[in-house]
Amino acid sequence: MGEPKADVLVLGAGMVGVSAALHLQQRGRDVILVDRHELAGEETSHGNGGLIECASVFPYMFPRDVREILRYAINSTPQVRYSVADLPAFLPWLMRYYLASSPERALHSALAALPLIRRSLLEHEALIAEAGVPELLRRTGWIKLFRSDATLAKAIADLERARQYGVAGEVLDAKAIAAREPNLTGDFAGAVHWPAPGFVPDPGGLAKAYAALFERKGGRFRVGDARTLQQGSGEWRLTGTDGAIVAREAVVALGPWSDLVFAPLGYSIPLSVKRGYHLHLAPRGNAVLHHPVLDADLGYLLAPMNRGIRLTTGVEFARRDAPPTPIQLQQALPRAHKLFPLGEAIDAKPWLGARPCLPDMLPVIGRAPRHAGLWFDFGHQHHGLTLGPATGRLLAELMTGETPFADPGPFAVERFG
Ligand SMILES: Cc1cc2nc3c(=O)[nH]c(=O)nc-3n(C[C@H](O)[C@H](O)[C@H](O)COP(=O)(O)OP(=O)(O)OC[C@H]3O[C@@H](n4cnc5c(N)ncnc54)[C@H](O)[C@@H]3O)c2cc1C
Repeated sequence: MGEPKADVLVLGAGMVGVSAALHLQQRGRDVILVDRHELAGEETSHGNGGLIECASVFPYMFPRDVREILRYAINSTPQVRYSVADLPAFLPWLMRYYLASSPERALHSALAALPLIRRSLLEHEALIAEAGVPELLRRTGWIKLFRSDATLAKAIADLERARQYGVAGEVLDAKAIAAREPNLTGDFAGAVHWPAPGFVPDPGGLAKAYAALFERKGGRFRVGDARTLQQGSGEWRLTGTDGAIVAREAVVALGPWSDLVFAPLGYSIPLSVKRGYHLHLAPRGNAVLHHPVLDADLGYLLAPMNRGIRLTTGVEFARRDAPPTPIQLQQALPRAHKLFPLGEAIDAKPWLGARPCLPDMLPVIGRAPRHAGLWFDFGHQHHGLTLGPATGRLLAELMTGETPFADPGPFAVERFG
């Protein structure tokens, strides 16, 4: 049997890789999608909050308010926690993140990502329709709850700023919160309801549905280790479990593991991770949660997934491969039980994942400058579920010489020198 040969080898079958594979296929490319797992969407793209965040025009930057930084520094807030042991390894990256978070540079990141954010839901809608899984997209938007007047006031100011970019949001008082979510209990200063974002009640299932669509349309899915990637003459070659896989071009879409391929090839790209946990719990009795609800001041999200109520945590700065330390989850659990009638945990243990992040909170999309036929598509930070299909389109347009729908300049790896 000959070696399977293709036009493009996409490494990584998370939301980002699967979406890139579909967009390349739409443009006539013969694509092989490779993952170390037998199924797509088993990692970060499975464990997230399920939000298609088309209202999130301002990325999650490093805080510039000294009081907020000091609160995080004492390492006791549920929103952000850092591993003291890993801090020396993280400090240089955190410094770059801090510098990239100046008001001017943060605005630059926001404006660069805006065309992708605006396109995000449209791209998902098209793929969801083609994949035939309308039940995986709910149009509820999501609710951000505030316990203090000060944080609510800041959120209302942020909403006003977002409105300038066409984003809709509604401020809710306690009565309006109760009308939308009758099962919530607590002293709320108020909330913001973002009605436009989509909610995916099974994000891993959506990646699998997209991968199934890719295969139905003739794409091939292979199991293999991306670390075996090698450049030949005019081709890229990888050892799959069923033998060698060869293609003219290769795309690195390995999310938080992308360094396993780019670092040995000599690229020094400041990819780091913000880790996060989730745990599913059963609702008690007939209690229903109608929207994903972020308890913003207490630092966790409850999302009504098909599997149960998924509690996700804020950011943990720790090495990608360090053992799990689900302290934020333990802190959030009693708070979540007070907010919503939750029963037993459904999962045997918490899930741990890692948001792949660059300091400017923009992904790397485009050509690998020193290797012919190699392309990058990773670093989608807090918004990889949201942006996978939109960035897949952008990458495919660049690879096939189409006019890109967004300026790719801000996403080029050359920005890191
Ligand atoms: C707690 C939490 C909540 C989040 N909430 C949201 C949200 O609500 N909305 C949103 O848009 N985003 C959210 N995110 C971010 C989002 O999940 C990520 O940005 C996104 O999943 C990244 O997708 P990816 O395809 O790049 O990476 P992944 O999904 O991790 O895919 C990478 C793939 O590479 C494969 N791989 C790794 N190593 C190898 C190897 N050696 N060989 C072969 N294959 C390999 C993996 O198996 C995996 O399938 C959240 C993240 C976390 C952690």
